[in-house]
Amino acid sequence: MKIHEYQARELLRAYGAPVPEGITAASPEEVCTAAERYCAGGEKCVIKAQVHAGDRGKSGGVRLVETAEQAEEIARALLGSRLRTHQTGPEGVPVEKLLVTPAVRVRKEYYLSVTADAEAAGLRIVASGDGGTEIEETAREHPERIEQISVSLLTGFQAYQGRQAAQAFGFAPGSPQEKELQGLLRGLVRLYVEKDCTLVEINPLVLTEEGRLVCLDAKINFDDNALFRHPELTMLQDMGQEDPAECAAAAQGMSYVRMDGSVGCLVNGAGLAMATMDILQEFGAAPANFLDVGGSATAERVRAAFELLLGDPRMKAVFVNIFGGIMHCDVIARGITEAARQMELHVPLIVRLEGTNARQGREILAASGLETIPAVDMADGARKAAAAAGGTSV
Ligand code: GDP
Ligand code: MN
Repeated sequence: MKIHEYQARELLRAYGAPVPEGITAASPEEVCTAAERYCAGGEKCVIKAQVHAGDRGKSGGVRLVETAEQAEEIARALLGSRLRTHQTGPEGVPVEKLLVTPAVRVRKEYYLSVTADAEAAGLRIVASGDGGTEIEETAREHPERIEQISVSLLTGFQAYQGRQAAQAFGFAPGSPQEKELQGLLRGLVRLYVEKDCTLVEINPLVLTEEGRLVCLDAKINFDDNALFRHPELTMLQDMGQEDPAECAAAAQGMSYVRMDGSVGCLVNGAGLAMATMDILQEFGAAPANFLDVGGSATAERVRAAFELLLGDPRMKAVFVNIFGGIMHCDVIARGITEAARQMELHVPLIVRLEGTNARQGREILAASGLETIPAVDMADGARKAAAAAGGTSV
């Protein structure tokens, strides 16, 4: 789960991190009032679009203003619009809230994050003196400028790891900046563990002209599988920022991830879903989605899955690939026939049913009068789906 920057700032504050003050506003008038407060005395302030995507600065979503009038004008243009950044699709994400915050005088920008270190079964602190908007480029072209520090979950964060990060930033040993960084890192690691995060990213962390460290931007993601432990976090969820198809699937207990291709996939089990996407690529077709209906889907859930797939205008074929274990193939077949009764099946439907009650499932489909294309196995199904979608069949 993702949250907005203004929400991430609140959490960081609660963990003792240095965060600038700010006011979240949903109307141009509110933005104007907030900016009046921060721009008083000739100071500048920053208007920041609150969206679940980074790279806002380069897309007009982060704006420096000198007066409340400028702030209001920008708010009129941004609020209610959709912001497109490198991290969103071409349709962008809706801007419903703006964060108004006093401008910080920046001397230097740094990159700092805490994430999982899967190999070491621990945490990883990533620190770089090349912070700001070009961190991806640094990672590509100068990986040696990015320091990665492994933190064991058994021993927790240690001061020497803080010194290592400080060194990566060029802070002198024993300097006030090093001390501030130690405190910040300790807080970030504690936040990461206590709130079951998958990412805590400060980009940029800045050194101000006054010599203080400040978290200028904040991105925090949480592990969905641990959300049941954090009702206070679940409340922060903003479904308006997420893909509507992914939300609809989640509401039905399915996991759906949008991809770029044109073959819809309806599969049970995450492993089989991944293998299905791979084998489609193998036959020259690109999957339009990952869709795992789960191990114990009902006919109703299968119908909902079809609604998602057939409602997608990119779809050129649908490949149903089911290995029935706990899941019974006749349930899938009934779901398919019900869905086809309610919606027009306007693309070829390739069906591979194997496992529990596969024979009954095939019989239900055959008796339904539906024009499905049966497949004898996974490769046969993928080949047929690729051919139906206009890919090169090999
Ligand atoms: P992002 O583009 O979505 O990552 O948004 P950020 O909040 O990171 O802002 C993008 C860039 O705008 C930062 O890297 C800074 O260079 C600049 N910026 C944002 N806030 C301030 C500020 O208060 N003062 C100054 N000088 N620059 C800022
Ligand atoms: Mn940023």
